[in-house]
Amino acid sequence: MSTKVANAAATDYEPVIGLEVHVELKTNSKMFCGCRNEFGAEPNSLVCPICLGFPGTLPVINRKAVEYLCKTGLALGCSIAAHSKFDRKNYFYPDMPKNYQISQYDMPLTTGGSVTLPSGKRVRLNRIHLEEDTGKNVHAGGRMAGAEYTLIDYNRAGVPLMEIVTEPDLSSPDEAEAYLVQLKAVLSALGVSDVKMHEGSLRCDANVSIRPAGSSALGTKAEVKNMNSFRSVVSALEYEIARQKASLAAGERIVQETRNWDEARKLTYSTRSKEQAHDYRYFPDPDLVPLSLEPATLERWRAELPELPLAKRGRFMESYGLSDYDATILSADIPTAVFFEAVVAASGEPKAAANWMLNDVPRALEKHGLTIESTRMKPGQLAELIKLVKSGTISGKAAKEICEAMVADGEDPQAVIAQRGLAQVSDEAAIAKLVDEALAANPDSIASYKAGKTKALEFVVGQVMKASRGKANVEIVRAALIKRLE
Ligand code: ADP
Ligand code: ZN
Ligand code: MG
Repeated sequence: MSTKVANAAATDYEPVIGLEVHVELKTNSKMFCGCRNEFGAEPNSLVCPICLGFPGTLPVINRKAVEYLCKTGLALGCSIAAHSKFDRKNYFYPDMPKNYQISQYDMPLTTGGSVTLPSGKRVRLNRIHLEEDTGKNVHAGGRMAGAEYTLIDYNRAGVPLMEIVTEPDLSSPDEAEAYLVQLKAVLSALGVSDVKMHEGSLRCDANVSIRPAGSSALGTKAEVKNMNSFRSVVSALEYEIARQKASLAAGERIVQETRNWDEARKLTYSTRSKEQAHDYRYFPDPDLVPLSLEPATLERWRAELPELPLAKRGRFMESYGLSDYDATILSADIPTAVFFEAVVAASGEPKAAANWMLNDVPRALEKHGLTIESTRMKPGQLAELIKLVKSGTISGKAAKEICEAMVADGEDPQAVIAQRGLAQVSDEAAIAKLVDEALAANPDSIASYKAGKTKALEFVVGQVMKASRGKANVEIVRAALIKRLE
């Protein structure tokens, strides 16, 4: 026993991670009935006999959901099955009124494919299948503090859900996060989902094991659930890897189990071991016809695919001369990318447009609780601001103030400049007058400057700026001063 502990402690372990991501599809109606598919409605207002599981009702496959899943598969290089089917996954839980969930077991819509990370690494996919979401249990506490019961909202029951399963290809928590960021970017470019983890339209279960570094065998995995942000996926994985290492170092065996992440306590705890695993008694759903996809339909869908984030990143680097980093951020979110390109088109200044879109614009959006989609600022206004800075009409400092006003209220830059008196004085005659006054008032500085103290020049520049209440164009002031002193 003691030698085993010593060996385990001396071994270097590396993590192995595989992710199962559930994504709610942004269809108009639910997966098998005509109820509206919408987040945040009055509880149990979007339900019907089908999604409430009444006996005798018959489900009908939502074509759009199949299209969205197949487009995802085509974008990620998966093989799309010409024939597939739906199965019943049987279990008893109040969030599933039928006592089974319609899912796909042994004939998923897609197999294979991969997600390419910005690092170039390809994370292989095992499968993507289509299923229906469950209802949501609303536990006592929070809004209903003190109540000792659970309420069920069936609005989510029957919402189309796709499950994207990776091979165990991820080798660190950060890489798992990079995968999620990239997957989210692809899904958002395809427009198939809202991909909002905080609203549950993207959910992630993380499978993780450790093995001696360099080994190719797989260790026993734990499946971690209940993370509600990318950040918490990283934290849960870090915790779980450390826990497994400590277990082995203590001479214990890792058991295959499901664990929940506790966000408040920052730890995982066991909820179900392999022995307690469910037997779902899968069998083909006799109420649904098998699915057949025509090659021509698939070709049409392939032709409709939009430009994907990595291709966009490459184009942004090539056409606009952006850095890898800037291009990655600007291409990851479609509304941001669209806005950015509109600013470039209107200003002809890609670098400046990228700078604004990466710094001052997001800062102002966050400050005012807005998004690039909800702000009233138009790309043309930001382009105008860029031109005003370039022409020297306003200073960089004033431009930041104007940017915030534009983001907050959608005001035209010229209007903000007029209202707040932010125009920069570039008029050489006006500046020359201020320069003369400053020189007359500061003979000592002139003497020091002439004695070789260049710092004295900056003092006089400062005096001129002060006299202009910050509005003089500082470059013109400096040039005028030097000219006068020579
Ligand atoms: P299960 O039968 O428990 O559902 P699967 O083989 O279907 O397991 O895999 C589920 C997920 O777990 C996949 O994302 C897969 O890549 C990942 N996975 C499988 N084995 C391991 C392992 N030993 N370590 C880490 N992840 C794993
Ligand atoms: Zn319904
Ligand atoms: Mg499985």
